[in-house]
Amino acid sequence: MKKTHKIKKQDLTKLLSEWSSKFTILTPSQPEGATGWAKWDGTDTTFLDWYRNTTVPPKNIFLPLMEKLFSFHKDREGYHVEAPPLGISKQLVFGIRPCDARSLALLDMTFRDAYEDPYYLTKREGVVLVGLMCTRPYDSCFCTSLGSSPDDSSHVDLLFTDIGDEFLIEAITDKGEELIAKTSVVQATTEADEARAKEAKDLAHRKVTREIDTSGTTEKLLASFEDKGYWEKIAAKCISCGICTFLCPTCYCFDISDEMVNKRGDRFRSWDSCAFCLYTKMPMENPREEKWRRLRQKVCHKYEFYPMSFDVIACTGCGRCVRLCPVNWDITQTLANLPAQEQIKQEK
Ligand code: SF4
Ligand code: SF4
Repeated sequence: MKKTHKIKKQDLTKLLSEWSSKFTILTPSQPEGATGWAKWDGTDTTFLDWYRNTTVPPKNIFLPLMEKLFSFHKDREGYHVEAPPLGISKQLVFGIRPCDARSLALLDMTFRDAYEDPYYLTKREGVVLVGLMCTRPYDSCFCTSLGSSPDDSSHVDLLFTDIGDEFLIEAITDKGEELIAKTSVVQATTEADEARAKEAKDLAHRKVTREIDTSGTTEKLLASFEDKGYWEKIAAKCISCGICTFLCPTCYCFDISDEMVNKRGDRFRSWDSCAFCLYTKMPMENPREEKWRRLRQKVCHKYEFYPMSFDVIACTGCGRCVRLCPVNWDITQTLANLPAQEQIKQEK
């Protein structure tokens, strides 16, 4: 059984302060724009009042919106590269939701397992993930259909569960246990605390009401890949804004650009989106000029290509693409209405 502790909510500032001597603490943040993640200011824990999940997912901690990869300069001998020093960064992400912690495990498959991306890994390897169980899932959330849940502890080091005036803390990994054991503000839990945590978790599970059936989805997508009629209908109202990809925690398309002045330059990596027509434009052709091909790419990346490459669906059911799309495109409907293979054969 996992070891548990508890902390009074009013002592959270003390706990984060203790941790801040070793880590840069990141918490949910509500600037003037979209909610996201920012360095903790040393006192503010009011995010506990408004936080359900952030609009901008935590992927930007590991894959920043724009990141300098290296500098370079040119002289008579040619180009010279000056790579930045890459040390493991020590960050603690406080309050990450289980679905978003899971998204990082999915990103690892591309940026650690398939290809070792040093920029991603230096941020990812030193991080501590302190999860906060979801007590108020959105009606667009469907994490339980993807094998996760509001209290999924699979990808965090510690999991906090709201039990009223206190949090119950589960140490999930050795790193988490070590971290919590060294703090001065936690207490031992009682059976009554455990019962309150179970009640909170059961209630949260019941609040996730959106469901999708993922069985056979990959095969259906394979079969309907060239079903232009279906995909055109699905993409008809899409305005190619890219929100469903930029704000998807498992989307990672990027562009590379150079800025050069007087023979000195910097190379940057920045977020891009398969929703944009120019993303796949090449000198001779653009394989995804039509909108339906681009929206199909978004869906197939999650539910066809990732399962075929890594044996896992690259969607966490966080629901961001459902609740943030300006024209109410809904991936769960797209998947639910995929034509059956027999239907596609008849149409042909
Ligand atoms: S968020 Fe909606 S409108 Fe924007 S690209 Fe995605 S599906 Fe299209
Ligand atoms: S596809 Fe939509 S629901 Fe799935 S992880 Fe991305 S934003 Fe979340």
